[in-house]
Amino acid sequence: MKISVMGTGYVGLVTGATLSEAGNDIVCLDIVEDKINQLNKGESPIFEPGLDKLIKKGIAKGNLKGSTNIEQGIVESDITFICVGTPSKKDGSIDLNYIKNASSAIGRALRHKQDVHTIIVKSTVIPQTTENVVLPIISKKSGRKRENIGIGMNPEFLREGSAVKDALKPDRIVIGHADEVALNVLKEIYKDHDCPKLECNPRTAEFIKYASNAFLATKISFANEMANMCSIWGIDFKEVAEGMGMDSRISPQFLQAGAGFGGSCFPKDVKALAAAAKSDKIGSKILTATLEVNESQPKIVIGMTKERLGVLKGKKIAILGLTFKPETDDVRESRTEIVVKELVDEGAKVIGHDPEGIENFKKIIDIETSNTLNEVVKGADCLILMTEWKEYLEMDLKSLKERMNGNVIIDGRRALNPEKVKEAGFDYKSIGLG
Ligand code: NAD
Repeated sequence: MKISVMGTGYVGLVTGATLSEAGNDIVCLDIVEDKINQLNKGESPIFEPGLDKLIKKGIAKGNLKGSTNIEQGIVESDITFICVGTPSKKDGSIDLNYIKNASSAIGRALRHKQDVHTIIVKSTVIPQTTENVVLPIISKKSGRKRENIGIGMNPEFLREGSAVKDALKPDRIVIGHADEVALNVLKEIYKDHDCPKLECNPRTAEFIKYASNAFLATKISFANEMANMCSIWGIDFKEVAEGMGMDSRISPQFLQAGAGFGGSCFPKDVKALAAAAKSDKIGSKILTATLEVNESQPKIVIGMTKERLGVLKGKKIAILGLTFKPETDDVRESRTEIVVKELVDEGAKVIGHDPEGIENFKKIIDIETSNTLNEVVKGADCLILMTEWKEYLEMDLKSLKERMNGNVIIDGRRALNPEKVKEAGFDYKSIGLG
């Protein structure tokens, strides 16, 4: 199938590369020339395990390419996936500007084409956006009759860090369709996937995505609230989570105590859903509480640091982990940003380390960084673990301790082994440790 993918970001790239791997002809479209140039050289503009390999293969085979000529890319395809960003406005509500611009471009392009064209929204959008925003703009700009347009909504559930795997082997596929054209196109595209597939209308598909993210974010905030109780009552939440997770109704996933959730999805999606519910006078007490707990978790990390070091002014603090989770270079809404800002405001000397996220993090806060663990901990009074990269879980604590000035480790992810950390001579503090 000839498919154009609008938006060559985390979702668009993975969608394009995996659909090319399945044998489709893919053009990835973006307004940012650098991304497209990199893609056409067979390189991935983002770090995502396995993505480089798929891109190289697609470019070499000739069934994957990038272009900034958006209208031509659409005209020469039969199906367009919309994968542009849907960020938050200042008040937390969804900003649909990229979606509206993408829809206008599709509409303009379709003026130059006769055949039926199918548009599938993959971006995360508030219920009714596909039917009430995307379709009307495309219809108006293209001047097409409704029967000449297929329209569907196929939410993306990939997780950064395992995005390629998730896209190739998803838990489920949600096929939101407003007509038979879109239904048949999506069934054909996903015919080789043997996971459960749910067919529904677009607004249901849109809401499944939000309800799923809101549930997972709430599970994290719930775990954090329980962990905070554990801290007071001398209980290790890790053991509690293990016991809870043995119940198949609960599952062990997303039950980790820590500095809260970040990334490009959970914070913005929970805020957007809460704002949409508020504007339609339903409101949501649970989502409000989920966000409140999440905002307070990084402050616990700061509190622990102050408790151990006293005045932070002039103290050297090494931060391990700048990305919002391991195995990605994405620093959007990373909890590290909040912690670093607070430490810098208090006058601490902060130095950061991350296997993949240094370049992106420096665009937000230009802190001193180092590429090696040995350098970053040199002379540090305290070490704060903010992202549970494997490299940090396996670090040689004794030799790091020898290079430090102090002996404090604050584990913002409850990821290290307390016995091993203490054996290495550290004073160890973590969220939910008891
Ligand atoms: P991103 O910011 O990484 O990529 C978006 C891309 O769209 C950018 O490269 C941007 O230049 C491009 N773009 C903007 N307007 C355009 C236009 N008119 N034409 C062509 N390209 C345009 O965003 P992302 O993380 O890939 O997320 C995209 C959507 O997918 C969002 O709605 C997000 O919520 C959703 N989503 C993201 C993830 C994730 O893990 N990142 C997972 C599931 C769903």
